[in-house]
Amino acid sequence: MTQTIEPTATERAPATPQYGNFIGGEWRPAESGRTFESRNPADTREVIGTFAASDAADVAAAVRAAEEALPRWRRTPAPKRGEIMYDFAALMRQHKERLARQMTREMGKVLAEARGDVQEGIDIAYLMAGEGRRLFGDTTPSELPDKWAMSVREPIGVAGIITPWNFPMAIPCWKMMPALISGNTVVFKPASDTPHCAALLVELIAEAGFPPGTVNFVTGSGQDVGMAIVDSPDVNVISFTGNTETGREIAIRAGRRLKRLSLELGGKNAIAVMADADLDLAVDGIVWSAFGTTGQRCTACSRVVVAESVADELLVKLLNRTTTLRLGSGLEPTTDIGPLINSGAVAKVREYVDIGRDDGARLVAGGGRPQLPELQVGHFYEPTIFDGVRPMDRLGQDEIFGPVLSVIRVADYDEAAMVVNTTRYGLSSSIYTRDTNTAFRAMRDFSTGIVYINAGTIGAETHLPFGGTRQTGNGHREAGHAALDTFTEWKSIYVDYSGHLQRGQIDKQ
Ligand code: NAP
Repeated sequence: MTQTIEPTATERAPATPQYGNFIGGEWRPAESGRTFESRNPADTREVIGTFAASDAADVAAAVRAAEEALPRWRRTPAPKRGEIMYDFAALMRQHKERLARQMTREMGKVLAEARGDVQEGIDIAYLMAGEGRRLFGDTTPSELPDKWAMSVREPIGVAGIITPWNFPMAIPCWKMMPALISGNTVVFKPASDTPHCAALLVELIAEAGFPPGTVNFVTGSGQDVGMAIVDSPDVNVISFTGNTETGREIAIRAGRRLKRLSLELGGKNAIAVMADADLDLAVDGIVWSAFGTTGQRCTACSRVVVAESVADELLVKLLNRTTTLRLGSGLEPTTDIGPLINSGAVAKVREYVDIGRDDGARLVAGGGRPQLPELQVGHFYEPTIFDGVRPMDRLGQDEIFGPVLSVIRVADYDEAAMVVNTTRYGLSSSIYTRDTNTAFRAMRDFSTGIVYINAGTIGAETHLPFGGTRQTGNGHREAGHAALDTFTEWKSIYVDYSGHLQRGQIDKQ
């Protein structure tokens, strides 16, 4: 007897969408004519669309278009740039549900989280549009009479924007909006797993009225497109989010050209649970932080550092919650956890589960692919918990980027703080405690770019700086006012209206 497999919606549809690159205000195929497909990670039979498999020639064309658009855009008054950005934000709002659904189809995160991803894009667009009427510099007294002193922000030039797939709309907006409001033009390369999300954003950017060439969009691999952007002598600033090893390679190449470079890289985020914590509240935060977006957030919690005296009780509560989580397509309202992004991600999670077992950690939940037949067509993996992980084990140190949580038991706050800080990453951390003094100690001691008190490791807001210490980046921050620092040069201006030579420092009274 032959088994009939129902065709997916896309297989029934007449054609999948086809997108080229968007260069100088026009959609066009890759110069080589090559294409690649994007597929739904919850059902890999479903093709989301076909995209240009570009290379250095396409990047060169995009950079030229960005250079040509630059003089006009940088002279467009910043409040006017902001007005276009407000229109873009309004379009995103108008299309929020459509964007979120398409994101879930292409990237897998559950619909509520996809809506949040779009909302982050909207939030940063509104925030940065407002910066068009601020972009403040300083005016300050001169040390000499009859002299004026001030500083202003200036655009840097052409900005190369290279983004990952895990926040396929928020992160491009987090980068492009500050770049554009500052007067830079953009060459944008999205992750090859989520080109459709990026193309939908670019369509709205065009519709909002950003002039041709202001935003140029080139799809294709990191090797062919990403590297060409990094190596281009005419791209003046690079903003990259991705894994630490890619970031290191980009830093070396960009460093040779002394390029401005902002890196937002990996994380190994911890939630510390103290003996006096509200354990139910902590479990809510841990489950959301560890398994939301299937553990594929840079701020995902992958370590719980728990006081030994409450560790067993916390673990029981955690297991009770974890075993009720339902896997499935993120478009289904009953789904708690969507798929991983691709087969490589599944293989990596598997490898780390083996490493955990070999290192002697105790597997207490998950640890395999789900058995349900409907989940066999997607990249699903069970939410997994290891107990008894030692801080320096690979499970305690490496970024896995999947639904794998390590429980590390400690004696007290001091040991917890030490463990929280003992990784090469420093993005996000959290502590659950009812003691105000302990909370303030954690705010001081946890050496991460973001610290939460009585909340999980995720939930950043766009008007505060976002980024991490150590190998999570290179000291830059996204979002908030800090984002402008990546995309602007400071210029100091002195106006002498004394009518005679005044020598700074020498003629000072
Ligand atoms: P990735 O493999 O480093 O890819 C990120 C982007 O870089 C993609 O567009 C990729 O293109 C491109 N790329 C790959 N190799 C390149 C190269 N040699 N030169 C230039 N570009 C290159 O990272 P990912 O797997 O997509 O993202 C997950 C990582 O991002 C995790 O480590 C996560 O922690 C990190 N992340 C950090 C933050 C943060 O704010 N700190 C936020 C989100 C994610 P292809 O897709 O074509 O390979």
